[in-house]
Amino acid sequence: MHIGGQWVPAVSGETLEVITPTDRDVVIATTPRAGAEDADRAVAAARAAFPAWAALPFTERQRALLRIADSLEEAVEDLATLTALDTGNAIRTQARPEALNLVACFRYFAGVAGEVKGTVLPTADGQLQYTRRQPLGVVAGILPWNSPLMIAGFKVPGALAAGNTMVLKAAEDAPLTILELARICAEHLPDGVLNVVTGYGAEIGEALVVHPDVDKVSFTGSTLVGHQVAAKAGARLAHSSLELGGKSPCIVDADSCTDEVVEQVLLASRFARQSQSCTTGSRLFLHSSIHDEFLDKLVARTKQLVVGDPREESTDIGCIINAKQWDRVQGYIEDGLSQEGVVVAYDGRPDLQVGPPGFYHAPMILTQVSNDWRIAREEIFGPVLAVIPWTESEEVVAMANDSHYGLAAFVFSKDLDRALGMAHRIDSGWVQVNQGGGQVVGQSYGGMKTSGIGRELSLEGMLEGFTQIKQVNVKLS
Ligand code: NAD
Repeated sequence: MHIGGQWVPAVSGETLEVITPTDRDVVIATTPRAGAEDADRAVAAARAAFPAWAALPFTERQRALLRIADSLEEAVEDLATLTALDTGNAIRTQARPEALNLVACFRYFAGVAGEVKGTVLPTADGQLQYTRRQPLGVVAGILPWNSPLMIAGFKVPGALAAGNTMVLKAAEDAPLTILELARICAEHLPDGVLNVVTGYGAEIGEALVVHPDVDKVSFTGSTLVGHQVAAKAGARLAHSSLELGGKSPCIVDADSCTDEVVEQVLLASRFARQSQSCTTGSRLFLHSSIHDEFLDKLVARTKQLVVGDPREESTDIGCIINAKQWDRVQGYIEDGLSQEGVVVAYDGRPDLQVGPPGFYHAPMILTQVSNDWRIAREEIFGPVLAVIPWTESEEVVAMANDSHYGLAAFVFSKDLDRALGMAHRIDSGWVQVNQGGGQVVGQSYGGMKTSGIGRELSLEGMLEGFTQIKQVNVKLS
């Protein structure tokens, strides 16, 4: 782990094995299994570094972030390969774009560092009343395993640009790219400004959440753990923001049965990420007038996708993270089939469902699904698309909103009034119209309902998530 500018083991000396999803029999690294004493050490290092970092002119923090961006850019290929090995995300379709996104995030937040500023209020003569935006202090960032570098990009540069220092906890299943990020950042940051720890959520993760000297917890992970994090941080009145799970609707209108929309729906399905994405458009609502024709096109394209070694450029879809997740995905498929769902993609290709030694899984499209089945309600976090027909826009918006999640949504219609009418009525933090990819650095990213609280990746996210306002009222003589 990287704490206070040093590479250190856990105080206990204990370690965890990291396996690659490409082969469960291959241990690719061991990392420290950190606990409460390590949390103390890392938080103390971040606290010690805070006053000097916060006091720097913003241009100095900006320069450091830009230098980090340059170094990350030089390392993009290494970071992409490591991401593929560590997470199972395919290098061309996912791992390399994630590394490039990280670079863009560092540049973006360097660019907006000077926006951490206050306001001057209109006053009577003899008064000066103004606000200052100040950093919160020590921020604990807790990361999931699905896209660690990309999500680190949502948190680290924004928190640092605003003058905070950090302890970043890597996910136990995919910690390696985050340790590499620590190494690159350390070349350009004072000791202790960014500390990276590894280990289990219930140990080092929880120790950070309850730590009295952590001012803010920025958590990305499951809704289940998010509830616990919010409760524990709230109990000591620490700030918290939560980026959690989703069960996002993807609506295709009667006028949109085209090859181009099929490509965009494939992007929304996040099959290229094994659908291990919180923003996966996992409920596909097809207008009944085009249902069969669109499905035929989608199935034909899905069957062309190459499932294989995530390090190969020819691979479209890599591996599921681990055995537990692979079994979970299978469980959902079996549940859907037991309720009379019908698999249409890869039917008859059991070889592509074979897991060990690598956790490969072909994308599954299930039709004749009802919006109240488990596969349409629960986050699967695997390549399973539930297809549901609709006829009236009121009906499909109601089905889209009939979920406790509210992270992302996709609407495809050539009639823009109709598309925007639906987009505005869907309760999601992010709605895409006529596109399935399309996330841009600088957008306000986050969820409604149980998909989260707070926004990241944007100027608003930086100001609201990583600063606090102080009011100063001055009587002038
Ligand atoms: P998870 O909630 O199991 O773990 C996330 C992180 O929290 C890990 O680092 C883990 O070690 C840590 N953790 C676990 N228990 C903890 C505790 N009690 N206290 C503090 N930390 C704890 O999630 P995961 O399985 O790693 O990731 C998948 C989930 O993340 C999915 O639900 C997915 O939707 C969600 N996710 C959300 C977003 C988003 O931006 N909304 C992005 C990616 C993933």
